[in-house]
Amino acid sequence: MNDLSLACPHVPSFLQLQAETKLPQWQRWVGYSGAISDDTFGYVSERLDPEQLRRAARYIHRKLKRGKAFEANKIKGLLCVSLDANEQFCSDHRCCEQCLTREVTCKDASGQEVKKTQYYHKQIYAQLSGPELSVILDFEPMRPGEEECAAALRLLRRLRATHGPRFFDVVRRALTAVTHLDQPPPANFPPNVVIRFDVQPETEPVLQ
Ligand SMILES: [Zn+2]
Repeated sequence: MNDLSLACPHVPSFLQLQAETKLPQWQRWVGYSGAISDDTFGYVSERLDPEQLRRAARYIHRKLKRGKAFEANKIKGLLCVSLDANEQFCSDHRCCEQCLTREVTCKDASGQEVKKTQYYHKQIYAQLSGPELSVILDFEPMRPGEEECAAALRLLRRLRATHGPRFFDVVRRALTAVTHLDQPPPANFPPNVVIRFDVQPETEPVLQ
């Protein structure tokens, strides 16, 4: 389930995940010859302890780093982590306390435009991308009412604490909202670099 949670952030719902578990390549990968129901994914994920998952993932990340598995990911000698936001579990009907909401316009049966509330979840992902190996280091859910940058700062602070300030060198954003993190990029580096990881972000996020 750890592999699953870190490898499947692109899957938007448990129903789609259930459909993917019918594929032979999936069943070979997880070593289970059968489809897994969306109910099972829901049951298990509700009982998972995120901290346990993070500890296991951290152990794997350190082994990979020590084994120089990320060397091919470096750009001009610097290991760069990318931040990106992904949305999952969108629903017009079901929601939980952690759901984000937005108003959408759609048409009813008579063709009239109506506004309704839509519920969804969105996470910020920190990923090391490379030609041979791409690894999600950690991710942080956005909370109701907050912007992407708040969750991104929480994620960066946790990564600094868990992986240390030298696990990677720079942070690159795919987020438009993290503009206040801007720092002068290292020389000769692509322009979308936002901060060096060993520089403490000035804005302190709210930590729990
Ligand atoms: Zn929810």
